[in-house]
Amino acid sequence: MTIESDNAKEEIKEIVERCINCGMCKPRDSIFKVMREEQYSPRGKAIMLKNNQYDKILFDDNLSKQCEASCPLKIKMHEAIVKSRKVLVEEKKEPEEVRKAIRNLRNTGNIFGDK
Ligand code: SF4
Repeated sequence: MTIESDNAKEEIKEIVERCINCGMCKPRDSIFKVMREEQYSPRGKAIMLKNNQYDKILFDDNLSKQCEASCPLKIKMHEAIVKSRKVLVEEKKEPEEVRKAIRNLRNTGNIFGDK
């Protein structure tokens, strides 16, 4: 763990702790509409992050901000999710596909590794 990931976790907590678990974000969330499992919903991700659970599932989000539009408290879940991805990368817990994309970007300038 690093100071950067500790700071990011505090910032994430500040965002997700405002969530009241009302679920109003779920019907409009495009990922939840397809996956139909709580952990893919903004509420599910907020609960995970409140409990310090940093799972690769946090990369399964299109950051569309649809949930913010339907949230009565206008919680910025997309910001919490971007920060949580940074934590996962910092702690080397990102999915292999992401690791590969980062490696390709560093070596070739694009995520696919094409020269
Ligand atoms: S709508 Fe907002 S407050 Fe309600 S569960 Fe979703 S993120 Fe939490």
